Amino acid sequence: MAKSSKKPKAPIITSPKGMHDILPADQPLWEKVRKVGKEVADYYNFLKIETPILEKEELFNRPLGEISEVVEKQMFILKSRGSDGLALRPEGTAPIVRSYIEHGLSHLGQPLKLYYEGPMFRYEQPQAGRFRQFHQLGFEIISGDNDPVYDAQVIIATYRFLQYLKLKDTEVQINSTGCNKCRPNFKKKLVEYYKSKEKLLCADDRHRLKINPMRLLDCKVDKCIELKKDSPNILDSLDSDCKKHFKKVLEFLEEVKLPYSLNQFLVRGFDYYTKTVFEIFHQGFNFAIAAGGRYDYLVEMLGGRQSPGVGSATGLERIVEIIKQKNISILGKVKPKLYLIHIGDLAKAKALAIVEMFREAGMDIHEALGKDSLRAQLKSADKLGSPFALIFGQQEAFEQSIIIRDMKSGAQETVPLIKVVNVLRRKLR
Ligand SMILES: [Zn+2]
Ligand SMILES: [Zn+2]
Repeated sequence: MAKSSKKPKAPIITSPKGMHDILPADQPLWEKVRKVGKEVADYYNFLKIETPILEKEELFNRPLGEISEVVEKQMFILKSRGSDGLALRPEGTAPIVRSYIEHGLSHLGQPLKLYYEGPMFRYEQPQAGRFRQFHQLGFEIISGDNDPVYDAQVIIATYRFLQYLKLKDTEVQINSTGCNKCRPNFKKKLVEYYKSKEKLLCADDRHRLKINPMRLLDCKVDKCIELKKDSPNILDSLDSDCKKHFKKVLEFLEEVKLPYSLNQFLVRGFDYYTKTVFEIFHQGFNFAIAAGGRYDYLVEMLGGRQSPGVGSATGLERIVEIIKQKNISILGKVKPKLYLIHIGDLAKAKALAIVEMFREAGMDIHEALGKDSLRAQLKSADKLGSPFALIFGQQEAFEQSIIIRDMKSGAQETVPLIKVVNVLRRKLR
C-alpha cells in the first residue's frame, strides 16, 4: 500500500449528539427485549400498531401542554421543503390516539388494547439514561369507560414485561392527580402553600408557580425537594369519584400481589394525564424505567368522542443498560452452528447447494465461501464454537461425499452427501 497520500483525509462524521447506533453485538439483547415485549402483549391481547415517526406539531402542543417541558424546549421541529410544522414524535400516546380517532379504531374492540415499539425524540442534555433518540415500548387501553381495572391491567402488563426480562428489585410508585373537577382545588392549595416561600424556590419553580404549579412537585433541586416535604397531599384534595377510582386500582394491584408504594409527589410531565399516574424504578438507578397513567380527556382534546384511556411506556435503552450493567443473562443458549469448509473451485461451486440443503433441513450452517485457505476456515469454525465442521474438497465433490469433523476431538469421518443431514441431526441430539 502507498504510504502517505497527499490527499487530505475526509473528516470523520459522527452520529448526532444523544443519538446512538445499536451495533451488531447488542442486537441479540435488543431482539430479546422486543420479543419479550411482544410475548407479553400477545398474552394480554394488545394489538400492535405503528404510527409515523413524524407527526404534525399541533398533535403534541395542546395534549402535552403548551407549557410542558417537552413542548417548550424538547421537540425536534422540521422547518424545510414545505414540511413545516412536522415534529419528530416525543412520545407514543398522542399519535396512537390520533390514529384511533382518524381510523375509527373503536370498532376493533371495547376496550381497545394496543401496543407499540419504536424510536422517540427529545432535545435533551444527554446523560445516564437520557438520549435524544430513544426507544419506547408502550401498552395502551382505550375504552368507552374509565374502569380502574384497566389502570391495573396496564401496570400489570408493564410489570410482567420487566419481570420476564429478569429485572428484579423494581418498584412501582403510584399516585392520583385527580380530574378536571378536583385538580383545580389542589392547585389552589399548592399555590397558597408556596406563595409565602416563593423567594426560597429556584428560578424555574418561580416560573412554574405562575403557569403550572403541579410541576413544582417534580423539581429535582435540593432546596425545592426540602420545601415540598410539607406541601399539601394531593390525595386529600381528590373528590369522591377520583378517590374511589384510585382505591380500586390499588385493590386490583393487591389482588395480584403486585408491590407498589404511594408517592404523593408523583406528577407526570404531560397535561393529558388524569387520575392514576405511575413510574417504575429499578433499585440503584435514579431514572424511571417505565411510566404512564390515565388520560381521560385526551381523545376529546384531539377531536374524538369522549373515550377514557390509560397507558404506559417503557424506556428500552434504560432497561438494556441495566441488563448489561448488572450482567443479567436473558439470552438463552445459542443454537449450535455448523461450519462448512470448502477446498478448491469445484467444491466452492457445489458448496452453495449444500448451504441450501441445510437451510431446507432447518439447520443453521455457517460458511466462508470468500475464504479459500483451509486454515483460515478452520480458525473461523473454532472461533464460532461450531461443534462440527463439514469439510468439502475436490475429492468429496467428485464422490458426492463430505467429511464431518468433530471440532473438539478432531475425529473425522466421511459420509455420503445425501446422508449428512440425518447423521448430523443424530450427533447434535
Ligand atoms: Zn376528581
Ligand atoms: Zn425548584
